[in-house]
Amino acid sequence: MRIKRLRLAGFKSFVDAADLRIEPGLTGIVGPNGCGKSNLLEALRWAMGENSPKSMRGAGMEDVIFAGTESRPRRDFAEVQILAEQTGGEEDEELEVVRRIERGAGSAYRINGRDVRAKDVALLFADAATGAHSPALVSQGRISAVIAAKPGERRQMLEEAAGISGLHVRRRDAEQR
Ligand code: ATP
Ligand code: MG
Repeated sequence: MRIKRLRLAGFKSFVDAADLRIEPGLTGIVGPNGCGKSNLLEALRWAMGENSPKSMRGAGMEDVIFAGTESRPRRDFAEVQILAEQTGGEEDEELEVVRRIERGAGSAYRINGRDVRAKDVALLFADAATGAHSPALVSQGRISAVIAAKPGERRQMLEEAAGISGLHVRRRDAEQR
């Protein structure tokens, strides 16, 4: 799977609609402190189904919604859209994943315009080895975390990189039935 475009509105500091094209290869995000670099990576993770507010640096999930500034009122919703290309099949398939959160109403997910569960989105990305915890997303402090990781944690990282963590999700699911 290749992510081609990231669009966000009302997410954290990105109060106005932002539209980013992601070209093939390695993408780096540069800019002054506090300009929103980490917020962009968090937007990607969030749309992939990240459900821990802490890993979004918030107390609750609604903290991802633009909270307002002196000159601009807060927003009531945040929306992030990922446009990707599913490669490897007979034909490349276009994929659109949207997550939206509204104050007091929680999150809703759509895949190609269809309402789906959070779990469907998580599985979609887990299988493509690009999930919210994917090693393909190198966030602040991640490099030193890999170096300092315990063997078990490092194994988890390798499994994510090898693309087999989707199998674990499915196995846990089957065991619970
Ligand atoms: P650094 O170089 O220090 O790592 P950065 O470019 O990664 O900085 P971010 O951490 O992405 O910056 O952005 C931080 C900014 O986002 C802060 O100014 C913070 O106030 C703002 N911010 C975070 N959440 C919200 C929110 N819900 N509403 C409005 N602004 C927000
Ligand atoms: Mg940062």
